[in-house]
Amino acid sequence: MSADEKILELVNVSKTFDRLQVLTDCNLRVNKGQTIVLIGPSGSGKSTLLRCINLLEPPTSGGVLFEGREITDDPRGADRLRRNIGMVFQNFELFQHLSAIENIMLAPMKVLGMSRKDAHDVGLELLRKVHIPERADHFPDELSGGQQQRVAIARALAMRPKIMLYDEPTSALDPEMIREVLDVMSDLSQEGMTSVCVTHEMGFARRAADRIIFMEEGRILENAPTEAFFGGDANARAQKFLSQIL
Ligand code: ADP
Ligand code: MG
Repeated sequence: MSADEKILELVNVSKTFDRLQVLTDCNLRVNKGQTIVLIGPSGSGKSTLLRCINLLEPPTSGGVLFEGREITDDPRGADRLRRNIGMVFQNFELFQHLSAIENIMLAPMKVLGMSRKDAHDVGLELLRKVHIPERADHFPDELSGGQQQRVAIARALAMRPKIMLYDEPTSALDPEMIREVLDVMSDLSQEGMTSVCVTHEMGFARRAADRIIFMEEGRILENAPTEAFFGGDANARAQKFLSQIL
């Protein structure tokens, strides 16, 4: 991997819903292989920022660049971006009527045109990667929350994304299941998966993140290397937030 190769960039992204200004002039650069952790109070715009990254929400102004190309107003570019981004949500959002492996097989078959057999092989390989191959034929309601979230991660990985976005992936989980999900995320980061994670799990942030971003009221107030951030270099508002969640 070449050093500091930029894969994604937000340039002066702002977002308003009706008259509510939710994001103001957000700038963010994501390099290939980097893991970025995004923190901030509830309502500060973290989810909206993630949704702007994959254009689930179009920014009101500003640009999203993927692999150097402006894609905000380019529908084909936006499609390419979405295919290359995997997203994992707080509530898993698995298809309830499909087994674990069928959840994973669906997009490769439908979107990539993969054969059922190949998609099944990919599904099993990914279930091994998230440590639950024995759960392949179980339905979501037969799985624990931690297992469901790991299926959701495997499902996202099945499209071979270049970037993974996680929106509070462990905040709906019982404490004993948080670790198993964070460990899978850490392993992926270690293997070089580019990731942007909204999480308040600061142990994970210290372990896995290259940079920490702190948001408040729709603005990015801090964007610092992990060591500096936790070493006392974070600005006063970020420090105060940290002291409240640690
Ligand atoms: P966070 O993820 O940091 O808690 P969000 O991005 O979810 O913050 O929300 C930021 C603000 O935007 C909140 O005030 C929220 O109510 C508002 N908001 C988010 N999505 C919408 C929407 N689709 N329509 C209107 N307001 C929204
Ligand atoms: Mg949120």
